[in-house]
Amino acid sequence: MATGLVYDPAYLKHRTGRHPENAERMRRILEALEGDLALWESLVKISPRPAEDQDITRCHSSQLIDHIQSLCESGESLVDVDTIICPESFGVSKLAAGAAVAAVDAVITGQADNAFALVRPPGHHATPGTAMGFCLFNNAAIGARYAQARYGLERVAIIDWDVHHGNGTQDIFYRDPSVFYFSTHQYPYYPGTGSLEERGEGEGEGFNLNIPLGPGTEARLHREAFIQGLNIIEQKLPPDLIIISAGFDSRRGDPLGGLMLEDSDFSDMTRRVLDLADKHSARVVSVLEGGYNLSALGQTVKTHIEALRS
Ligand SMILES: [Zn+2]
Repeated sequence: MATGLVYDPAYLKHRTGRHPENAERMRRILEALEGDLALWESLVKISPRPAEDQDITRCHSSQLIDHIQSLCESGESLVDVDTIICPESFGVSKLAAGAAVAAVDAVITGQADNAFALVRPPGHHATPGTAMGFCLFNNAAIGARYAQARYGLERVAIIDWDVHHGNGTQDIFYRDPSVFYFSTHQYPYYPGTGSLEERGEGEGEGFNLNIPLGPGTEARLHREAFIQGLNIIEQKLPPDLIIISAGFDSRRGDPLGGLMLEDSDFSDMTRRVLDLADKHSARVVSVLEGGYNLSALGQTVKTHIEALRS
């Protein structure tokens, strides 16, 4: 498989100081990827462009765009208590959303078989009207709606294995039967949403699946829950496109999480997603979300990308 890597050095310019979501995460991931020359050279390098307003407003209010822009321009350093910004953050966050768009373009036009968007800030907590939880715009959601608007794809699945529930993605698609949102996450935990009872609403009922997991859940049980979710997606909405909200804070030893997955589990879960995609001739795009253990993150992401390539 030819795997695309969407990246721009501008992602280092979203400066957050000693916050867990910081530029060092990118550096560690790049170091691990570039350290394996055969892997690095095999990746199809893709440069993103900033998402356009019309891409962002498929998921967010224009007031949110204006709000983030004016906060950044005025030199504010906080969007909410745990979401730090700097003057460059507005442009960087549009470029992060643009990476999901570029990854979709790459896999639909055949430039790559699948693609990984190596981006920050992450996105899955950003709701239609609110930036929160280290997230400004919802990169994965913007990619999903772009694929539908630009290429007419009818069925998209967003699979979120970050340790946190992607409340933003859930909100955006809660009444939408054309995008299936599936999340495994630690529960109860930040941001408080993500119970089994949240199943979607109206026409979207049954197209939102949360599998909450207690802290310390055995990796084997976690993987089984994940496979169960994939089976439900296949029954409810065999997808044309799968977007992975790839958070690696669900790995054992993450300072912000209490789940127990190992690198080999991410590899296995990635293959399961590719198998589901193959059965339905779907394309796969993966977008980085969380992951804060700097000594492990590079290797974990590398393992995920190796599985995408296999
Ligand atoms: Zn997270």
